Amino acid sequence: MTQESLLTKKEILKMMAGFRRFRERFFKGEHSVYEDLSTGQSPKTLMIACSDSRVDPAILFSSSPGEIFVVRNVANLVPPFESNMGFHGVSAAIEFAVVNLQVENIVILGHRQCGGIRSLFQPDAIRKGGFVQQWMSIAEEAKNKVLQAHPHGDLDQKCRECEKTSIVTSLENLRTFPFIDSAVKERGLQLLGVYFDLENGHLSFFDDMTQNFRELEISKVHNT
Ligand SMILES: [Zn+2]
Repeated sequence: MTQESLLTKKEILKMMAGFRRFRERFFKGEHSVYEDLSTGQSPKTLMIACSDSRVDPAILFSSSPGEIFVVRNVANLVPPFESNMGFHGVSAAIEFAVVNLQVENIVILGHRQCGGIRSLFQPDAIRKGGFVQQWMSIAEEAKNKVLQAHPHGDLDQKCRECEKTSIVTSLENLRTFPFIDSAVKERGLQLLGVYFDLENGHLSFFDDMTQNFRELEISKVHNT
């Protein structure tokens, strides 16, 4: 494909114009952001987020290049540790972040209106026996907890609760990885669950003490 024909496609043209703005911002000047980053990366946080187009962590947290190491998948799930050698893409990224990059925090970022979570309650909406269904079985336990706690809740409430409960399941699954367990004990690696409600723009975090999600008081957050 030639550049001329490539740039006739509206969506592609929009992306390339976006890249031009990105370059002007991060490659310009004597000491550009990428001048430092061209020698390597040292992000302090590993973020596990959903692939949903509305919850890009770098945009949500106004991060600069090199600041967060991001893994995105359907419904921001972490599978439990497995010793068989399969194609464990998520586990490989987690291992690289913890063992090689020595990140200080792992954040599981869940969100409202998660299509992956919804599929647990509406299995007909996805391909039977497909990849999504198999992947979402990681959150089966979270779904059962929600059904037990809210047997009469409507679909919306069940989804909302399960979006949060599955974050807790993923936090528990993180601890099943031996190298995470030892990094928590030996160097204070922090594990954090965060929930973004895209309907009202609120952010909550999982409080270990109360075992509940608490809304972040934005007015108390100051610029660094
Ligand atoms: Zn999602």
